[in-house]
Amino acid sequence: MENHRKKVKIAVNGGINFGAKLTAKQLLVIAKYMEDQDELELTTFQQLYIDVFEDQKDEIISEFEQAGLRCYPVGSFVKSLRTCNFCKGAEEEGMPVAKELNERIAGTPVPFTLKPAYTGCPVGCGEPLVNDIGIMKVKDHYDLYIGGKAKGKVAESGILLMKKLEPEVLYTAVEKIIVFYQKHAKKREAFHKFVNRIGKETILKEINI
Ligand code: SF4
Repeated sequence: MENHRKKVKIAVNGGINFGAKLTAKQLLVIAKYMEDQDELELTTFQQLYIDVFEDQKDEIISEFEQAGLRCYPVGSFVKSLRTCNFCKGAEEEGMPVAKELNERIAGTPVPFTLKPAYTGCPVGCGEPLVNDIGIMKVKDHYDLYIGGKAKGKVAESGILLMKKLEPEVLYTAVEKIIVFYQKHAKKREAFHKFVNRIGKETILKEINI
C-alpha cells in the first residue's frame, strides 16, 4: 500500500537567521518522516529537499513549522532569500528587512526558478551580484542588483538597478520587478535572460519609483 502513495518534494530550511543552521530538534523532526534509505538533498541555495507523502504534506509542513523550520515549494518559484551570516548583528545588518522581503516574495510562482540573495554589508558573503535579484546593505540603505548569473562559462555579475533605498521602497521595487517578469517573460525564460532582453531602462520605467 505504501508503494502506491505519491511523494512530493518540499524545500526546507531554518529560516533567516545567523547563518544557515538547523538545531538538533529540527533534524529529528525531519528524520521522523524519512525511511532509512531516504536521502536529504542539500541544495546550493540554503535549502534541503525532502520527499514526503503527498497525503501527509500539510500535516508535515505544520509540524516542521512548529519546530521553527520554514517550508517552500520546489520548481518554478521565487526561492527563499539566500543570506549572509549577519556577523555584525541582526539590526545593524538588516535581518528584519531580509525577513520581511523573504515573507513577501519566497514561493511566488514565476516563469523560471528565481534566486534572490541578500547581504548585510559590502563584503557580500550572501553573493548578491551573482544571483537573479541581489540586495546589498550599504550603511543605512539598500542597493538593488538584478540579472546576475552564477552558472556556466558565461557567468555574469548583476547590474546595479537602484541604490540607497529605504526598506519600503526596496520591497515595492522587488515586488514590481517580479510581477513584470511574471507578465512579460517568454515561456521558461530565465530571469537573467529576461533582464538582458528587456534592459535596465525599461525595467526602471516599468517599476516607476
Ligand atoms: S556580508 Fe558582511 S555582515 Fe554579512 S556575513 Fe559577510 S561580513 Fe558579515
